[in-house]
Amino acid sequence: MITGGSNKLGPDQRAAALSALARQELQVLVVGGGVVGAGTALDAVTRGLSTGLVEARDFASGTSSRSSKLIHGGLRYLEQLDIGLVREALTERALLLQRIAPHLIKPVSFLFPFTHYGWERAYIGAGVSMYDLLGVARGQVRGLPVHRQLTRSRALRLAPALRKSALTGALLYWDAQVDDARYVVDLVRTASAYGARVASRTQVTGFLREGERVTGVRAVDLESGTELLIRAQQVVNATGVWTDEIQAMVGGRGSINVRASKGIHLVVPRDRIQSHTGIILRTPTSVLFVIPWGRHWIIGTTDTAWALSKAHPAASRTDIDYILGQINKVLAVPLTHDDVEGVYAGLRPLLAGESDSTSKLSREHTVAHPVPGLVMIAGGKYTTYRLMAMDAVDAVAHGLDGKVAPSCTDLVPLAGADGFPALWNSRAALAKSSGLHVARIEHLLRRYGTLIGEVLALIAADPSLARPIKGAEDYLRVEVVYAVTHEGARHLNDVLTRRTHISIETWDRGVSAADEVAELMAGPMKWRAKQVARELENYRVEIAAERKSQEADTDTDADAIRLGAPEIVPVLSNGLAPAPGPGGSRPGDAGPASGAPGPGAPSPGRRGARAGEGGPGD
Ligand SMILES: Cc1cc2nc3c(=O)[nH]c(=O)nc-3n(C[C@H](O)[C@H](O)[C@H](O)COP(=O)(O)OP(=O)(O)OC[C@H]3O[C@@H](n4cnc5c(N)ncnc54)[C@H](O)[C@@H]3O)c2cc1C
Repeated sequence: MITGGSNKLGPDQRAAALSALARQELQVLVVGGGVVGAGTALDAVTRGLSTGLVEARDFASGTSSRSSKLIHGGLRYLEQLDIGLVREALTERALLLQRIAPHLIKPVSFLFPFTHYGWERAYIGAGVSMYDLLGVARGQVRGLPVHRQLTRSRALRLAPALRKSALTGALLYWDAQVDDARYVVDLVRTASAYGARVASRTQVTGFLREGERVTGVRAVDLESGTELLIRAQQVVNATGVWTDEIQAMVGGRGSINVRASKGIHLVVPRDRIQSHTGIILRTPTSVLFVIPWGRHWIIGTTDTAWALSKAHPAASRTDIDYILGQINKVLAVPLTHDDVEGVYAGLRPLLAGESDSTSKLSREHTVAHPVPGLVMIAGGKYTTYRLMAMDAVDAVAHGLDGKVAPSCTDLVPLAGADGFPALWNSRAALAKSSGLHVARIEHLLRRYGTLIGEVLALIAADPSLARPIKGAEDYLRVEVVYAVTHEGARHLNDVLTRRTHISIETWDRGVSAADEVAELMAGPMKWRAKQVARELENYRVEIAAERKSQEADTDTDADAIRLGAPEIVPVLSNGLAPAPGPGGSRPGDAGPASGAPGPGAPSPGRRGARAGEGGPGD
């Protein structure tokens, strides 16, 4: 077993992890640093297995930072009579909320307006009563209040933004919400603390084989272009919507088919919708959530088939109009495009079934072994990632010699979770001792939990870090430095989009804050002026392309515009050749890389497939 782990994910840790991954054979290597891959790495390492995790881009940069950010059973699935699925998810909700990550997950209430008299109240009321009942998890208290029926006037007092004629009454129920991107980073940090070797910007490009058996992977450190051979007794493919591509690297037909379904969200300022609670609305095909998010609302989502760029799904004007149209059906003062601060789009990894409608495809997960030494895990949803991880590692255990301990992640709080309630209760004292306002301490506690001491220590060493970031005043300068030294952020976008959410929470999408953020990153990243300029240019071009894509009417046009912005660290297309630039993108391409690859890009000479190793052409 590999020991000596640390939860500090800085540049030095990444270098050490890559060198260890290249040197020693692992028992388990996980491919994909979304919530499922990070959860799988934590499950494996806490069973005592030597574990590695590689992610081609930034941690959580795929679907796992682009969700509705709800930890929920899904009322919708109850209507589809998926009782087992709902119960399982609600059990997880209680566990995550109370034990595993109380700092990152918090209760959120939703108002469900009725539009009919009589039967709807009885029908929905019965469904939500069952939801509440299923939420009483084994051995846990629910941790959330039970639902309440409301008259129309009571509902309007809670949500004055609603048009009086839009409802006949309502129901108020409780679920939970999560900072999805930060949760993944905490999962990765926790896995690393238990000894897992983790590296972002490291792409798997093929498999090592002994006959049919997979014995490891061929990977490229995309920052340096160095090729690595990582040997592992079992490899787990946890690449979400990229599952089929990895599967293709072992040749033959896929044993799991994953289809992508696009969902977009709008971010609007809190004052645009007067409400003391979140709201859930029925739409013709699904539901629409209005979710409180700090000083903002997140509104979503859509559900449409997507076969274009997987790394950068683009929201079109049609998507945005759809959401505005749905929400405006119930608002007294309608929202317009001018109210939209931020937009993001993500792809659901759905297990492909018979149905043509993506909203009817399965949200359940599946585990497969296409060949010995390789386990595939796909489907599911964020809320049930821990169960997916457990099933994946159970499958791994079958392929390992010797007995493997059962999963214990239900007993493993994430980095920052242990002791959180007590520290939360001491926030006034913390404010006093640190000199920060209690509101800032609450903000830091909700993001770093009990690791807040590490953040405050950076401020103690350099008090200028206690200042807010200009143009993104909700965040402190220290959060940028900490993101690089402790949270694995390596590029400007990692900080502006995932360690913070400045890119969707500011009117200029982080452009004015970018200079200060890049300067703060430059020290710990050892960037010279040229790299700072490159990061800034890349971010601005990306934001401009994103904005422009959101004016396009069709997915195809929006995708082509979005792909015009190059990636700061281009991924390799299907592991063999640089991805095509604008105009040359194919449906399902691994990612866009327009123009010349950056200085750190791998050279073609280091990418040739070798005999005996799997690859797309094998
Ligand atoms: C719009 C939307 C809303 C949602 N809302 C909710 C919600 O509210 N609650 C909920 O429970 N679920 C929700 N979900 C579902 C949930 O977000 C996903 O099921 C989950 O995030 C998928 O995680 P993942 O780890 O499988 O995939 P990902 O997060 O996409 O991770 C896969 C990773 O693999 C990496 N990768 C790919 N190829 C390679 C390679 N060759 N080498 C190395 N790495 C590679 C990718 O870069 C990526 O980071 C939502 C999904 C969407 C799209």
